Amino acid sequence: MADKTQRSDVTLDTIVSLCKRRGIIFPGSDIYGGLQGTFDYGPIGAELKRNVKDAWWRAMVQDRFDIEGIDSCLLLHPSVWKASGHVENFTDPLCDSLGPSRKRYRADHIEEAECARFLVIDVTDEAAPRTLEAEIWAPTKKKAKEFFQQWWEKALGLEGRRVKLEEVEGSRTTGRFSPDDGGRLTEPRMFNLMLTTTLGPVEESSAKVYLRPETAQGIFINFDNARTTARRKLPFGIAQQGKSFRNEITPRNFIFRTREFEQMEMEFFCKPVEFCQTGERTDMEWFEYWRNERLDWFVRLGINRENLRFYDHPKEKLSHYSRGTTDIEYLYPIGWQELEGIAHRGNFDLTQHMEHSGKDLRYFDPEANTHYVPYVIEPAVGVDRTVLAFLCDAYREEEVKDRKRVVLALHKHLAPIKAAVLPLLANRPELVERAHKLAADLKRHMNAVYDDTGAIGKLYRRQDEIGTPWCITVDVESLDDQAVTIRERDSMEQRRVPIDRVVEVLRADLEAAAPAPAAQ
Ligand code: ATP
Repeated sequence: MADKTQRSDVTLDTIVSLCKRRGIIFPGSDIYGGLQGTFDYGPIGAELKRNVKDAWWRAMVQDRFDIEGIDSCLLLHPSVWKASGHVENFTDPLCDSLGPSRKRYRADHIEEAECARFLVIDVTDEAAPRTLEAEIWAPTKKKAKEFFQQWWEKALGLEGRRVKLEEVEGSRTTGRFSPDDGGRLTEPRMFNLMLTTTLGPVEESSAKVYLRPETAQGIFINFDNARTTARRKLPFGIAQQGKSFRNEITPRNFIFRTREFEQMEMEFFCKPVEFCQTGERTDMEWFEYWRNERLDWFVRLGINRENLRFYDHPKEKLSHYSRGTTDIEYLYPIGWQELEGIAHRGNFDLTQHMEHSGKDLRYFDPEANTHYVPYVIEPAVGVDRTVLAFLCDAYREEEVKDRKRVVLALHKHLAPIKAAVLPLLANRPELVERAHKLAADLKRHMNAVYDDTGAIGKLYRRQDEIGTPWCITVDVESLDDQAVTIRERDSMEQRRVPIDRVVEVLRADLEAAAPAPAAQ
């Protein structure tokens, strides 16, 4: 259930409008009026998302000695989802409002509230008041009126008539009612979140396959392939990134909950404690390690530590096979919400796949001289939720010379564009030529752009809003002193640098900003 803590520095609407204005993220299928639960990344957003994924891949695969990366299919054999439990259990409780909005909810997202039932009485003809067959459930009469005006008046054909709302005596009760129209909710029914498609030219049931709702199962079914070809001993991990699909009942809050999204998941296979040699980390110690390391990754990439927290799932709510699950929560503008989950999954997944596939996926431990099924620690995070957290955390509004300046103070390694080269005067061919050449030189080392489509102040503002760390101005003086001005995004400080040293200086700055690799 959502925590009601609110942030005062940024709203979701502000981020949504910045994203649209600056080509970061657009509603999916926009020109056709949108497709619910889908979003497209624009020119700036595609770079940002790529940088987020690269930063994760670097930290989780390339900077480490104990993790391999793979890239499995989106379509897996249908038996995979039977074995994993998704066919039977990957469900959410769905309910509908019986009120006029007919809105649909995830039952577990609706908080219980104390409400009373209000009757709608048409008193236009005072001599013959008429009570209508309608139920509005609300905590107060004021709220009941709001529901009435927004939804019921029209639905009941009462526009222009005089109406009274009356609380039914003794009806006050605690329960779940629609927070939109005050209607009763239907009993929850379980709804499977997996999307299906058909393989092959004939649409017959035998060819039905699922679009994966998570990337993790592609890792489990490749456990043996990856382990043997990479000649790995325990402990080691397999990571992958890619699209996942979930037919979410209520996709909402921009890219926080969508029906098509990307995930970055890693399965870390380790020894059950009874097989650990002296000095080896136990499975629970690895769980601890990954909890801390994953939170630290966000901090290394610039997220304010105070906007992150752990939520440990209570023992009684864990799945039967799990020895611990922790969410890393971020303080989004909609409150504290799950950003990443870290789960100790025991040996559940591999055991299930052994049973369903008939393949022996046990590990032979040469030190213990025995076979067993490894334990798994799984850090799983959504790319889009991560992008949203980075955007919210980087967003700043400042007063500069009585004008509002909007800055995305993104970590330099996440910034979509690293440097923008701007000629002070677009009508001076010598300046334009030098600026073009500098942008081309920079492009060989980092994502740089050339822009002369506005006055310098406007160009700075545009780059600030998309988080470009450096703006480089080529001015008339540059023709004499062969130097340019580099302006820093956050401090707005300017320094004069010889034009032929710009590439070297910015490369060194970028290198110095690289997040440190994890302690292993
Ligand atoms: P939630 O409880 O919010 O539905 P979950 O616990 O089902 O999430 P997991 O199955 O643990 O999520 O997936 C791992 C991560 O994938 C989540 O922490 C989140 O970052 C991301 N994710 C899951 N569902 C969505 C979605 N519909 N849209 C965007 N990201 C998602």
